[in-house]
Amino acid sequence: MPVDTATAAATATLRMPRPEELHRAVDDRDPSYEGIFVVGVRTTGIFCRPTCPSKQARRENRRFFLTTGEAAKAGFRPCRRCKPLERPGGHPEWARRVIETLEANPTRRLTDAALRRMDIQPATARRYFLGRFGMTLHAYARARRLGFALDRLHEGTPVTPTGFDSGFESDSGFRDAFKKLFGITPAAARGTPPIVAKMIPSPLGPLLAAATEKGLCMLEFADREKLPRQAEDLTRFYDRPPVPGTNQYIEQVIRELDEYFAGNRRSFDVPLDIRGTEFQERVWRELLRIPFGETISYEALAIRIGKPTAQRAVGLANGRNRIPIVIPCHRVIQKNGQLRGYGGGLWRKQFLLELELRAAGIVLALGA
Ligand SMILES: [Zn+2]
Repeated sequence: MPVDTATAAATATLRMPRPEELHRAVDDRDPSYEGIFVVGVRTTGIFCRPTCPSKQARRENRRFFLTTGEAAKAGFRPCRRCKPLERPGGHPEWARRVIETLEANPTRRLTDAALRRMDIQPATARRYFLGRFGMTLHAYARARRLGFALDRLHEGTPVTPTGFDSGFESDSGFRDAFKKLFGITPAAARGTPPIVAKMIPSPLGPLLAAATEKGLCMLEFADREKLPRQAEDLTRFYDRPPVPGTNQYIEQVIRELDEYFAGNRRSFDVPLDIRGTEFQERVWRELLRIPFGETISYEALAIRIGKPTAQRAVGLANGRNRIPIVIPCHRVIQKNGQLRGYGGGLWRKQFLLELELRAAGIVLALGA
């Protein structure tokens, strides 16, 4: 594979997130760092996920590793409580049961009593859903019911029976809740296929994937402060808000991402439904042509779209890419090899470039 000088320079700057960031993630048990690093504790010889519920080690006793393999090689044993060798970012078994129950029967009401019958403490469920999805289990279930209602409306079912079928006890309660979540009335939503959105785990933290009936339209790092604006962009460019759910394109990108992160996939086949300004779309389509494991400069990208003086605009369009990883904006770097900005954080850009270079067989000398 050809390696230009920019790529070579970029590899030299690839590294872990800054120590301060790593310590903060451990202090806060920040779930967005799940699968990104593990932390070894010198005094016990055990390594943990960043979110381990056990008592935290003092900062001076922590050692950070990018992979569980590196921690094991350094002599640390996996913690029995947070089980860092199990799939990163996955939900615990009980949470999977709750989510599957709601997927199988979205109109079901999961009362505290129903949770206890499933051997789940309601307080634990509340805390977990709040931390993981930014909403209580109750709100999550209601959003799921409203997503179910939206599907029915899309099929042409009239508003009032849809509300009752979706588990709402009053017509006005359904209309209010619907309007509050989606920003449009149920009547306005009739006959419009929804944009569905699903949170998916990844080694870079949770991703929010969204798709229309035509293809994937968003794949965003779920902890980004830009997320609300991206959701607004979706509503503007596609004339509809995203709702919780999934479809064939979301399931396809989940499979392809698994292969990509395992180093077994070099390009994505999932169909995309790209909508932006004409200029943005030109830049995004050009990004799709940059091969796996290679990088180009902003200058080169501007030249490729026939606007050699529009470097700044090209950089901005790059930053507004709503489908990172699949549309590889991480492969654009500065001419001198510095990575420059990345909406999801520079460390994620480093992670992606490192992953691709490793998979492409380029040996890296990594600073730890
Ligand atoms: Zn642990």
